[in-house]
Amino acid sequence: MRRPMVAGNWKMNGTRASVAELVESLRMQVLPADIEIAVFPSAVHVSQVLDGVDGEHVAVGTQDCAAQNGFGALTGEVSAEQFADFGCKWVLVGHSERRLLLGETDEVVSRKFSAAQVGGLKPVLCLGETLEERRAGKTLEVVGRQLARVLDDRGVAAFESAVIAYEPVWAIGSGLTATPEQAQEVHAAIREQLSRHDGRIAEGVRLLYGGSVKAENAAELFAMADIDGGLVGGASLKADEFGAICRAA
Ligand code: PEP
Repeated sequence: MRRPMVAGNWKMNGTRASVAELVESLRMQVLPADIEIAVFPSAVHVSQVLDGVDGEHVAVGTQDCAAQNGFGALTGEVSAEQFADFGCKWVLVGHSERRLLLGETDEVVSRKFSAAQVGGLKPVLCLGETLEERRAGKTLEVVGRQLARVLDDRGVAAFESAVIAYEPVWAIGSGLTATPEQAQEVHAAIREQLSRHDGRIAEGVRLLYGGSVKAENAAELFAMADIDGGLVGGASLKADEFGAICRAA
């Protein structure tokens, strides 16, 4: 039995004041105890959020980490070890905004996945196709290639302490959500790809769906057999709605 998870990606949003408000509103929410919940503020707010949330119910992750481990001369980067030292538990790896807008290749994503685990963070590996790729019938090929890179480099055992998020690029921040059937098809293919390496690990890995998840569509998405929760962007900035999504999981 996989424990559902809902993760909130706050992206490049928030000031000290608005983050304090959001954290306070999250504390007022009745959040289910039987699912795993994590929020991903921007790096400058990690410490503030860690101090503010009830860490027993809500874990804190970071949206990125360096591909290099440890400490040293790498101006502007923050290593997984540094985030873990603060109390971060998770890190997003391979988000499409970083792949497409910041040029992160499958190779860089795989190195960050590895750096995260070596440095003490659990990665949420994001996979997903663009609209052009979907229209060209290449969805499963693209997602399969993105996953294969990490599987080949790290081995299937690395997925015992990682989560995968399927996020079709065309559904992120667009208001367009994949239908539950569209999402389920890709989730099943991801699990099948993992099962070719190890059936037990494939059954245990949580697969989150991301892309315009809202309170109104969460329950039908989370009802699908291979959808174990959601990675939520815009709607995670509203505590009421995020709470409702968590309760749907
Ligand atoms: C995301 O960026 O991970 C995301 C899923 O965003 P949104 O929910 O706003 O589509």
